[in-house]
Amino acid sequence: MKSEWKVTSNIINGEKMYAVYRILDTSELDHSGNREHYGEFTPDREAAVRLAAKLNREDKKKLCPRCGEAKEEFAVTWGWAQCFDCSVELRKKEGEGRGKEC
Ligand SMILES: [Zn+2]
Repeated sequence: MKSEWKVTSNIINGEKMYAVYRILDTSELDHSGNREHYGEFTPDREAAVRLAAKLNREDKKKLCPRCGEAKEEFAVTWGWAQCFDCSVELRKKEGEGRGKEC
């Protein structure tokens, strides 16, 4: 699975530069081919930290709180609380519950 967004620093032309990245597969070693970068290097560390925090917040919104998997794109667009599978399951359960009450 992917890691959270983090900030990395690099000396470029004698200046310390920062960038936002995450590990694509946390079960593998951290090497350049296993990293996803977001945006460009910036000398502003605070900006990079803020960007990483923002991306992590947005990623959490896209995760289903019930099963922890990523929600489908349309589920995110429509503002569903859960992923499609969980929504279907929950709806079924609701239906069953109502059936018993009647
Ligand atoms: Zn789910």
